[in-house]
Amino acid sequence: MDISVVIPLYNEAESLPELTAWIERVMAENNFSYEILFINDGSTDDSWEVINTLAERNPAIKGVSFRRNYGKSPALNTGFRHAKGDVVITMDADLQDSPDEIPGLYRMITEERYDLVSGWKQKRYDPLSKTIPTKLFNATARKVSGIHNLHDFNCGLKAYRNKVVKHIEVYGDMHRYIPYLAKNAGFNRIGEKVVHHQARKYGKTKFGLDRFVNGYLDLATLWFTGKFGAKPMHFFGLLGSLMFILGFIAVAIVGLTKLYNMHAGNHYTLVTDSPYFYLSLVMMILGTQLFLTGFIGELVVRNSTRRNSYEIESELNITD
Ligand code: UDP
Ligand code: MG
Repeated sequence: MDISVVIPLYNEAESLPELTAWIERVMAENNFSYEILFINDGSTDDSWEVINTLAERNPAIKGVSFRRNYGKSPALNTGFRHAKGDVVITMDADLQDSPDEIPGLYRMITEERYDLVSGWKQKRYDPLSKTIPTKLFNATARKVSGIHNLHDFNCGLKAYRNKVVKHIEVYGDMHRYIPYLAKNAGFNRIGEKVVHHQARKYGKTKFGLDRFVNGYLDLATLWFTGKFGAKPMHFFGLLGSLMFILGFIAVAIVGLTKLYNMHAGNHYTLVTDSPYFYLSLVMMILGTQLFLTGFIGELVVRNSTRRNSYEIESELNITD
């Protein structure tokens, strides 16, 4: 099979017939063998009934329906587990992404040998309240992930080599960072294609402004787990030791100064009169706690079943 189209959807009943007909047309014009995987993310309208009706006359239409709403990432992940096509294309169900981009994306994966191609809505038809924070967000994501050639991490329209979707796990709200997840799994050929974007025709957006707060928190998580997930002590241990040592030196200076002045018969003050004494105490306590957090982190990692699972590209003469 050439292409799997994975479509997560939540209350998009009005858009589905038009979207399906459009995809079918593009596939027929290009002679692709394909499947369309609808992942119904607990819709409360009649999206699932519409999908069932559509599937009656086209066996290439398949679907999974969640009992309740889990979010876009769980929906995508479920689609990825079932996708059989050589190239997997994800798109939103709201007709904002154009199926006409499918052939171009397909060729970039098969001919230009990209692992992942992300759409770039260069000209966006969304309100300013969404486009300006998005710019900031993408700049940060580029910096943290080290994928400098992407303008639009969170574009719903993306194409993947099948192997890529089988080796990444999208959970929580991590769909915003799929290129970063792919990069962490060792897929380095990440490209971008300018795609057409349209204003939403039916229904309304499912994401509010909280997306930006959560987006940044998720980015911090990814950065941390990518860098220190397997060795938390390298992060907490270093920070903790530094704080402890600084605190210790400071408190030693305060104490020794007092002893010296006492000895030399100078005027001296109580150690507890110095603000540095309290600052040092706090630093030493925090330092110890950070250090212990590192230890606990290491204990958690030690017990993880995935502590020794690596991405293997190929093997030679390995028989067992
Ligand atoms: N979506 C989903 N589960 C959710 C929220 C959204 O499957 O909990 C789907 C939604 O139906 C659409 C896609 O994710 O197909 C993108 O959502 P939306 O168009 O609301 O996002 P926006 O374009 O405003 O960023
Ligand atoms: Mg949309």
